[in-house]
Amino acid sequence: MKNQNDAARDLWAQIFARAAEEPDATLHRPDGQSEAEQRELMAHALREAGWPEAEIARRKYAVHFHGELENVNSPGVGPGLEFRLTYLSDRVRRAISEIGNTSHEKVEIAIDPKPGVSASLTNVIMTDEGILAVSSFLFRWCGLVARAYVRTLHSDVAHWTSKVSDLSSDQKFLLNKPDIVLYWLRIFASFSGTGTHALVPFRPSSPYEFHVFERVAWAMEYFAVAHEFGHHVLGHRNIDDDPKVQEFQADGFAAKVCERLEFEPFPLLQNPYLTTGAGGALMLSSLEILRSLEDRICNGASVAESHPTASERIAKISSRNLMQPEKLEVDQEFNGTVVRVMSTVAALVSDFIDAGGEKILADIRRVLRGTM
Ligand SMILES: [Zn+2]
Repeated sequence: MKNQNDAARDLWAQIFARAAEEPDATLHRPDGQSEAEQRELMAHALREAGWPEAEIARRKYAVHFHGELENVNSPGVGPGLEFRLTYLSDRVRRAISEIGNTSHEKVEIAIDPKPGVSASLTNVIMTDEGILAVSSFLFRWCGLVARAYVRTLHSDVAHWTSKVSDLSSDQKFLLNKPDIVLYWLRIFASFSGTGTHALVPFRPSSPYEFHVFERVAWAMEYFAVAHEFGHHVLGHRNIDDDPKVQEFQADGFAAKVCERLEFEPFPLLQNPYLTTGAGGALMLSSLEILRSLEDRICNGASVAESHPTASERIAKISSRNLMQPEKLEVDQEFNGTVVRVMSTVAALVSDFIDAGGEKILADIRRVLRGTM
């Protein structure tokens, strides 16, 4: 797509240059560790997680392969981020083309060099071009939430998928797994306090968790990217239109695109978190918990009431195949389990805040970002 979308690329270059000047810009700065030291740390963590030596040796090299890019829109952001977004976007573009639409060609993709978890589409005025940007830590967020989710689910699949449930017994059940509760709390505390994963220990997936974990994480990422492409393809350029309706429409579009990516990322393994939309449900419900924490720390500064709630959005995603009872049942099962687990996590996070966590997080944020 060289020499295309000049207006979008010019506008992005200006936005990027300004963002890169900010004191908390997330440009990659080598932290003094040599590459060999980083590899050794990674190998150690994988060994602890139960991986065999041959597999560790293979992954040592795979992690450092990032490929070549034709266009670089976000120079200097963390290694591999723009390559990863390009990879995801190319598959989403292909699925959109199969639906018979080529307007995605007018979208440039970029990494926003700022902390936090966000994905957004900026329309370039006077043109039909757009810029899809995700924040530098979006992929980390998906990875950690996916890992915590899979660990929660695997702690007792029969419990989390049983027909009858109530929130207070689910809370008691999860409190009996203190390492999992602590992992969730650290993820939310780290991202709401610092906008990054800095306070979360590195615990790679075990060989047993690996294939489920990867499918959940990729499904979250694909949903986020497909949702933003949806805003562009559906022509959401009029600011007078109802943003709630537009969100539902972009979700519906993303769910349709994700169905077409059913064999991602493993060609021989179907991904139910893509086909049912449950990856999207996990993205939406985890972000809602994060936003509510950020709001409490900043006294409601970032409330966005123009958006529908996660549960309204998940209800629409999980009931979209109303005319196909078999599909509907699987969709409701996977999305229902996500809602159940995440409602429990939300309640525990809220308890943590009520018990004084709010002040700790606000202090962390103040120290890292200066005055608020
Ligand atoms: Zn949206």
